[in-house]
Amino acid sequence: MTSKQPSNLDQVGQNIRDSAERAGRDPHAITLVAISKTHPVAVIRPLLDQGQRIFGENKVQEAADKWPSLREDYPGVALHMVGPLQSNKVRQALSLFEVIETVDRPKLARAIARISAEENSSIQCYIQINVGRESQKAGIDPEEADAFIVLCRDVLKLNVTGLMCLPPAGQDPRPYFSQLKDIAGRNDLEHLSMGMSGDYQIAIQCGATSVRVGTALFGARTVKTV
Ligand SMILES: *Cc1c(COP(=O)(O)O)cnc(C)c1O
Repeated sequence: MTSKQPSNLDQVGQNIRDSAERAGRDPHAITLVAISKTHPVAVIRPLLDQGQRIFGENKVQEAADKWPSLREDYPGVALHMVGPLQSNKVRQALSLFEVIETVDRPKLARAIARISAEENSSIQCYIQINVGRESQKAGIDPEEADAFIVLCRDVLKLNVTGLMCLPPAGQDPRPYFSQLKDIAGRNDLEHLSMGMSGDYQIAIQCGATSVRVGTALFGARTVKTV
Protein backbone atom coordinates (compact mmCIF):
# COMPACT_ATOMS: atom_id res chain seq x y z
CA MET A 1 0.00 0.00 0.00
CA THR A 2 1.30 3.39 -0.94
CA SER A 3 -1.26 5.61 0.77
CA LYS A 4 -2.30 5.28 4.38
CA GLN A 5 -5.98 4.75 5.18
CA PRO A 6 -7.48 7.76 6.96
CA SER A 7 -8.18 7.01 10.61
CA ASN A 8 -11.64 7.31 12.12
CA LEU A 9 -10.41 10.50 13.79
CA ASP A 10 -9.30 11.91 10.43
CA GLN A 11 -12.68 11.07 8.94
CA VAL A 12 -14.74 12.56 11.74
CA GLY A 13 -12.52 15.66 11.66
CA GLN A 14 -13.06 15.98 7.91
CA ASN A 15 -16.83 15.57 8.31
CA ILE A 16 -16.84 18.29 10.98
CA ARG A 17 -14.94 20.66 8.70
CA ASP A 18 -17.21 19.87 5.73
CA SER A 19 -20.39 20.38 7.75
CA ALA A 20 -19.08 23.64 9.18
CA GLU A 21 -18.21 24.93 5.73
CA ARG A 22 -21.59 23.94 4.32
CA ALA A 23 -23.22 25.84 7.18
CA GLY A 24 -20.98 28.87 6.62
CA ARG A 25 -19.36 28.39 10.00
CA ASP A 26 -15.75 28.46 11.15
CA PRO A 27 -14.64 24.82 11.60
CA HIS A 28 -12.45 25.89 14.53
CA ALA A 29 -15.58 26.94 16.40
CA ILE A 30 -16.56 23.27 16.76
CA THR A 31 -14.93 21.04 19.37
CA LEU A 32 -14.86 17.28 19.04
CA VAL A 33 -15.43 15.56 22.39
CA ALA A 34 -14.37 11.93 21.95
CA ILE A 35 -16.67 9.80 24.10
CA SER A 36 -14.46 7.02 25.42
CA LYS A 37 -16.89 5.38 27.89
CA THR A 38 -16.50 1.58 28.15
CA HIS A 39 -13.30 1.64 26.08
CA PRO A 40 -10.03 0.62 27.76
CA VAL A 41 -6.94 2.83 27.81
CA ALA A 42 -5.29 0.71 25.12
CA VAL A 43 -8.05 1.80 22.72
CA ILE A 44 -7.91 5.43 23.83
CA ARG A 45 -4.11 5.85 23.50
CA PRO A 46 -4.07 5.79 19.66
CA LEU A 47 -6.44 8.79 19.60
CA LEU A 48 -4.21 10.63 22.05
CA ASP A 49 -1.22 9.74 19.86
CA GLN A 50 -3.03 11.34 16.92
CA GLY A 51 -3.45 14.53 18.92
CA GLN A 52 -7.00 14.33 20.26
CA ARG A 53 -7.12 15.84 23.77
CA ILE A 54 -10.80 16.34 24.63
CA PHE A 55 -12.68 13.29 25.86
CA GLY A 56 -15.94 12.45 27.60
CA GLU A 57 -16.82 9.78 30.13
CA ASN A 58 -20.17 9.01 31.71
CA LYS A 59 -19.09 7.44 35.02
CA VAL A 60 -16.95 8.94 37.77
CA GLN A 61 -15.41 5.62 38.79
CA GLU A 62 -14.50 4.65 35.26
CA ALA A 63 -12.89 8.05 34.67
CA ALA A 64 -10.91 7.62 37.92
CA ASP A 65 -9.70 4.21 36.78
CA LYS A 66 -8.58 5.31 33.31
CA TRP A 67 -7.59 8.98 33.17
CA PRO A 68 -5.03 9.79 35.89
CA SER A 69 -2.44 7.53 34.20
CA LEU A 70 -3.32 8.77 30.70
CA ARG A 71 -2.96 12.38 31.85
CA GLU A 72 0.58 11.67 33.02
CA ASP A 73 1.53 10.55 29.53
CA TYR A 74 -0.46 13.13 27.56
CA PRO A 75 -0.40 16.74 28.80
CA GLY A 76 -3.32 18.96 27.94
CA VAL A 77 -6.18 16.50 28.30
CA ALA A 78 -9.61 17.96 29.07
CA LEU A 79 -12.25 15.56 30.32
CA HIS A 80 -16.02 16.16 30.12
CA MET A 81 -18.54 14.42 32.36
CA VAL A 82 -21.47 13.44 30.12
CA GLY A 83 -23.37 11.01 32.37
CA PRO A 84 -25.63 11.38 35.40
CA LEU A 85 -23.70 12.72 38.41
CA GLN A 86 -24.67 11.87 41.98
CA SER A 87 -24.23 14.62 44.55
CA ASN A 88 -22.02 12.41 46.70
CA LYS A 89 -19.54 12.04 43.82
CA VAL A 90 -19.13 15.76 43.16
CA ARG A 91 -15.86 16.12 45.09
CA GLN A 92 -14.28 13.28 43.13
CA ALA A 93 -15.71 14.64 39.87
CA LEU A 94 -14.09 18.03 40.50
CA SER A 95 -10.70 16.33 40.65
CA LEU A 96 -11.25 14.39 37.41
CA PHE A 97 -13.17 16.62 34.99
CA GLU A 98 -12.75 20.03 33.39
CA VAL A 99 -16.41 20.30 32.37
CA ILE A 100 -19.57 18.85 33.90
CA GLU A 101 -22.08 18.73 31.02
CA THR A 102 -24.88 17.19 33.06
CA VAL A 103 -25.99 19.72 35.66
CA ASP A 104 -29.63 18.65 35.67
CA ARG A 105 -31.25 19.41 39.04
CA PRO A 106 -31.10 21.90 41.92
CA LYS A 107 -29.70 19.41 44.42
CA LEU A 108 -26.71 18.69 42.17
CA ALA A 109 -26.20 22.39 41.39
CA ARG A 110 -26.14 23.20 45.12
CA ALA A 111 -23.65 20.40 45.79
CA ILE A 112 -21.33 21.64 43.02
CA ALA A 113 -21.59 25.20 44.35
CA ARG A 114 -20.76 24.20 47.93
CA ILE A 115 -17.95 21.78 47.15
CA SER A 116 -16.32 23.83 44.41
CA ALA A 117 -16.16 26.76 46.86
CA GLU A 118 -14.43 24.50 49.39
CA GLU A 119 -12.05 23.19 46.76
CA ASN A 120 -11.42 26.56 45.12
CA SER A 121 -12.62 25.18 41.80
CA SER A 122 -14.48 27.06 39.11
CA ILE A 123 -15.26 24.00 37.02
CA GLN A 124 -17.18 24.73 33.83
CA CYS A 125 -20.80 23.60 33.94
CA TYR A 126 -23.29 22.96 31.16
CA ILE A 127 -26.97 22.64 31.98
CA GLN A 128 -28.57 19.48 30.58
CA ILE A 129 -31.95 20.19 29.02
CA ASN A 130 -34.49 17.38 28.57
CA VAL A 131 -35.56 18.73 25.18
CA GLY A 132 -37.99 15.89 24.47
CA ARG A 133 -39.51 16.00 27.99
CA GLU A 134 -38.84 12.26 28.22
CA SER A 135 -39.54 10.80 31.65
CA GLN A 136 -36.62 8.34 31.43
CA LYS A 137 -34.12 11.05 30.58
CA ALA A 138 -32.28 13.41 32.87
CA GLY A 139 -32.34 17.15 32.39
CA ILE A 140 -34.35 20.26 33.10
CA ASP A 141 -37.62 20.65 31.18
CA PRO A 142 -37.29 23.38 28.53
CA GLU A 143 -39.89 25.64 30.16
CA GLU A 144 -37.94 25.56 33.42
CA ALA A 145 -34.57 26.17 31.79
CA ASP A 146 -34.42 29.96 32.18
CA ALA A 147 -35.20 29.85 35.90
CA PHE A 148 -32.72 27.03 36.48
CA ILE A 149 -29.98 28.91 34.63
CA VAL A 150 -30.64 31.93 36.88
CA LEU A 151 -30.38 29.70 39.96
CA CYS A 152 -27.11 28.12 38.83
CA ARG A 153 -25.40 31.19 37.47
CA ASP A 154 -26.72 34.14 39.45
CA VAL A 155 -27.68 32.61 42.79
CA LEU A 156 -25.21 29.75 43.18
CA LYS A 157 -22.46 31.48 41.13
CA LEU A 158 -21.59 28.39 39.13
CA ASN A 159 -19.40 28.87 36.06
CA VAL A 160 -22.21 28.05 33.62
CA THR A 161 -20.94 28.30 30.06
CA GLY A 162 -23.29 26.14 28.00
CA LEU A 163 -26.14 23.73 27.45
CA MET A 164 -26.27 20.05 26.55
CA CYS A 165 -29.04 17.82 25.21
CA LEU A 166 -29.81 14.29 24.06
CA PRO A 167 -32.86 14.48 21.75
CA PRO A 168 -35.40 11.63 21.58
CA ALA A 169 -34.16 8.65 19.57
CA GLY A 170 -35.66 7.95 16.16
CA GLN A 171 -36.96 11.46 15.48
CA ASP A 172 -35.69 14.38 13.44
CA PRO A 173 -33.36 16.08 15.95
CA ARG A 174 -33.49 19.50 14.25
CA PRO A 175 -36.36 21.03 16.24
CA TYR A 176 -34.70 19.89 19.45
CA PHE A 177 -31.30 21.27 18.48
CA SER A 178 -32.95 24.58 17.52
CA GLN A 179 -34.73 24.70 20.84
CA LEU A 180 -31.41 24.28 22.67
CA LYS A 181 -29.88 27.06 20.60
CA ASP A 182 -32.80 29.38 21.42
CA ILE A 183 -32.44 28.76 25.15
CA ALA A 184 -28.68 29.41 24.96
CA GLY A 185 -29.17 32.55 22.87
CA ARG A 186 -31.64 34.24 25.18
CA ASN A 187 -29.48 33.36 28.21
CA ASP A 188 -26.17 34.44 26.67
CA LEU A 189 -24.55 31.02 26.90
CA GLU A 190 -21.70 30.29 24.52
CA HIS A 191 -21.48 26.51 24.35
CA LEU A 192 -23.98 24.15 22.74
CA SER A 193 -23.11 20.47 23.26
CA MET A 194 -25.32 18.54 20.86
CA GLY A 195 -24.93 15.80 18.27
CA MET A 196 -23.57 12.26 18.56
CA SER A 197 -22.25 9.75 15.99
CA GLY A 198 -25.60 9.55 14.19
CA ASP A 199 -26.38 13.25 13.96
CA TYR A 200 -23.32 15.42 14.62
CA GLN A 201 -23.34 16.81 11.10
CA ILE A 202 -26.95 17.93 11.54
CA ALA A 203 -26.08 19.37 14.95
CA ILE A 204 -23.33 21.47 13.36
CA GLN A 205 -25.86 22.85 10.86
CA CYS A 206 -28.03 23.76 13.86
CA GLY A 207 -25.25 25.59 15.70
CA ALA A 208 -23.46 23.00 17.86
CA THR A 209 -20.19 24.26 19.32
CA SER A 210 -19.24 20.79 20.50
CA VAL A 211 -20.22 17.33 19.31
CA ARG A 212 -19.97 14.19 21.46
CA VAL A 213 -18.85 11.33 19.27
CA GLY A 214 -18.16 7.78 20.48
CA THR A 215 -19.09 5.02 18.02
CA ALA A 216 -17.80 6.79 14.89
CA LEU A 217 -14.36 7.04 16.52
CA PHE A 218 -14.06 3.82 18.52
CA GLY A 219 -16.53 1.45 16.86
CA ALA A 220 -19.52 -0.10 18.59
CA ARG A 221 -19.46 -0.49 22.34
CA THR A 222 -19.73 -4.08 23.54
CA VAL A 223 -20.81 -2.99 27.02
CA LYS A 224 -24.31 -1.57 27.26
CA THR A 225 -24.55 1.92 28.76
CA VAL A 226 -27.32 4.39 29.40
C1 LIG B 1 -22.46 7.55 24.72
C2 LIG B 1 -22.78 8.99 24.61
C3 LIG B 1 -22.46 9.72 23.46
C4 LIG B 1 -21.80 9.10 22.23
O1 LIG B 1 -22.71 8.34 21.51
P1 LIG B 1 -22.30 7.68 20.09
O2 LIG B 1 -23.60 7.40 19.46
O3 LIG B 1 -21.52 6.45 20.41
O4 LIG B 1 -21.49 8.67 19.35
C5 LIG B 1 -22.76 11.07 23.44
N1 LIG B 1 -23.34 11.68 24.50
C6 LIG B 1 -23.65 11.02 25.63
C7 LIG B 1 -24.28 11.76 26.74
C8 LIG B 1 -23.39 9.66 25.71
O5 LIG B 1 -23.73 9.01 26.84
